[in-house]
Amino acid sequence: MLRDVRFLNMGSCLIDRSQLVTGHPVGDVVRIPIWAYLLRGDEGTWLVDTGMPMGCIGNERYFGEMEPGDLILPQMTDEDMIDRVLVRAGLRLRDIGEVIFTHAHFDHAGGSALFQDARVLAHPDEVAALRQDPELPEWIDLGLRYEAVQDGFEPMPGVRLIHTPGHTPGHLSLLLRPQGGRTILLTVDAVYTRRNWDEDILGAMTDRARGQASVERLRAVAAAEDAAVFFGHDPDQATEAFWCSFIG
Ligand SMILES: [Zn+2]
Repeated sequence: MLRDVRFLNMGSCLIDRSQLVTGHPVGDVVRIPIWAYLLRGDEGTWLVDTGMPMGCIGNERYFGEMEPGDLILPQMTDEDMIDRVLVRAGLRLRDIGEVIFTHAHFDHAGGSALFQDARVLAHPDEVAALRQDPELPEWIDLGLRYEAVQDGFEPMPGVRLIHTPGHTPGHLSLLLRPQGGRTILLTVDAVYTRRNWDEDILGAMTDRARGQASVERLRAVAAAEDAAVFFGHDPDQATEAFWCSFIG
């Protein structure tokens, strides 16, 4: 049974808002938070995502020169590395036996290579895409103990994985039902911000039709479960009162 959900702040990124909101004019730079999540239950402790790679520490030019519309400037200190973040949550790397890999992007999977001994739950479409990628990102280690999970898989009672393709082929969102707390829907990058949700604007998608279908599915889940919806990178949501008791 899921007892506790913690939101782990993994640093931030400056990006051009046109990447969050399709059609927004280029030149409007916004700071977005990077999140990982810690799920504690009777069955163990699960880490969802692992933040940015070590190469981003103090290095906002990690991606080199970029066109204004593609601007991504990681804002990461050594305190934002997943091992240091876990220490602040009272844990060591080896306490994490299971990692949920929502998708392969640098700000979600950047620290995954540190978890050599953990089971890494990922959708098979995400791992298959990585295995076929001729330019595998440096933060991806295909030697991890990936375990394929399908839509609807429940790693523990109170945690359900939802396959939400579109942003990437094997993208996962999560429905959390902590005991005694409000049900939470983590959209991850299927929906970047509240504005995307409220105004029905897709964010970055590799497959827009599948992405739109995933958003519609998440809307149905949120309504059916009366869930509080936490978006992948909303600049304002972290300060909203409801979440503060959770954020570590
Ligand atoms: Zn992403």
